[in-house]
Amino acid sequence: MTPNPESSGGSAAPSHAGVDARRRAWLRLLGAAPAAAGLATAAAPTPAQARIKTSAHIVIAGSGLGGIAVANRLSKLLDGATITVVDRKEEHNYQPGYTLVATGIWPVSKVRDRNADFLPAGTEWVKEMVTAFDPASNTVTTDSGRQIRYDYLVVATGLHLDYAQIPGMDVAAIGQNGLGSVYASPQAAEATWRAMQAYCARGGQALMTLPATPLKCAGAPLKMTFMLRDRLRQAGTLDKSKVTFESALGNVFGVKVINDNVLDRWKQLGIDVETTQKLVAIDLGAKRATFASPEGDKVEKPYDFIHVVPPMRAPDAIRNSDLSWKEGPFAAGGWLEVDKATLQHRRYPNVFGIGDINGTPRGKTAATVKKSAPLVAHNLVEVIAGRKPDENFDGYTSCPLITREGSAMLIEFDYDGKLTPSLPMVDPLQDSYMAWLMKYRMLKPAYVAVLKGRV
Ligand SMILES: Cc1cc2nc3c(=O)[nH]c(=O)nc-3n(C[C@H](O)[C@H](O)[C@H](O)COP(=O)(O)OP(=O)(O)OC[C@H]3O[C@@H](n4cnc5c(N)ncnc54)[C@H](O)[C@@H]3O)c2cc1C
Repeated sequence: MTPNPESSGGSAAPSHAGVDARRRAWLRLLGAAPAAAGLATAAAPTPAQARIKTSAHIVIAGSGLGGIAVANRLSKLLDGATITVVDRKEEHNYQPGYTLVATGIWPVSKVRDRNADFLPAGTEWVKEMVTAFDPASNTVTTDSGRQIRYDYLVVATGLHLDYAQIPGMDVAAIGQNGLGSVYASPQAAEATWRAMQAYCARGGQALMTLPATPLKCAGAPLKMTFMLRDRLRQAGTLDKSKVTFESALGNVFGVKVINDNVLDRWKQLGIDVETTQKLVAIDLGAKRATFASPEGDKVEKPYDFIHVVPPMRAPDAIRNSDLSWKEGPFAAGGWLEVDKATLQHRRYPNVFGIGDINGTPRGKTAATVKKSAPLVAHNLVEVIAGRKPDENFDGYTSCPLITREGSAMLIEFDYDGKLTPSLPMVDPLQDSYMAWLMKYRMLKPAYVAVLKGRV
């Protein structure tokens, strides 16, 4: 049974005074929870194991969560290897915190760190972007024209937010004139909160969009919708407002049991859902968005607030290379052609993929990286040692789905969409203060532990 979204779990912001007995019980449980959920935050050392001696040169393209996590693991497993990380980005962003910033729960400073603080000692860091991958010659080319040869390659470039597919959209305008979009950057998340506050003060029509492409954290658009509705309630403007979720996906979430649960909740909360509406253009000045149905029928809708979720695809350097899928469901987005179990490239055995870039069913969350970074490092070491990759990934994907301030659902599932709850005391389909605390308090330290190769 779907719980009443306004009466179950915790009900108020954790900043409120007087944590009651139930919450104290949750907090005690929480002490035990991270280990059970595989989210241990302490510096759990990698078990002592013989380091493999090698003179191999490993290039890691991308220094986000996946790239740095694998770099740290490889530096612990290998003795004598040269590890080169290629990425211009110097700031490290804790992206799972963006939804907290964009809904007024966290300050933006909590999602901004420095890559230099996480890269392992001895790593060579090329502060440039890869513009071309040539796996036939084991070479990457950077934007300065530099060619870097490798023995082994780890692709960790994340994905490209394709705002350009929406004519009229301007990322620089996020925060103004009722435009929000949590995905683009920490600054965009902060600006989204400004736009959301201005909207909630007056109320009106809100449009929450969802494209049909694979998404990183596909729960984020849902969290933004739940939280917008909660902020309207807090601002006292709910009765003057209408929130409509405009999906191009045919549903609102790819795992049916979660999709149905969310739809039930939204029905009770008065959130309207359109499931065949693709955002195809936006007029930011006039505050009008154009949607197309699968049949090509177009309709223009006015809004007071819009949350734009861009279509997502592989960055050009991967999409245009021989590393991308050439046929099948992942070819259109140019995703990396890896074996979904070993995460080894299907045609180039000296290449592995980690994180959002992988052309696999589901699996674009930080939690996916947490589970798969040890496996990628291990399987790569096996290949370096002349053996076959022998660990298989189940596609673990997870995100705490915020249902309102102080409450969330901890949803976890695998490649097949089967729920894989890791905490016996947390029902994945029931929102709870416990799951909220995981999101609010535990996941950033857990993320940092993943980065450092310690989980
Ligand atoms: C709004 C939002 C909410 C989220 N919420 C959650 C959540 O609640 N739980 C959860 O588990 N996950 C969540 N995620 C998803 C999670 O943050 C990502 O899945 C994770 O960061 C993926 O790591 P990655 O290393 O693959 O990519 P990223 O961390 O994005 O890093 C990719 C890196 O590659 C670099 N790069 C790109 N192209 C090139 C190139 N050509 N050459 C060199 N470098 C390149 C980029 O500069 C970047 O540094 C959320 C994400 C967002 C945006």
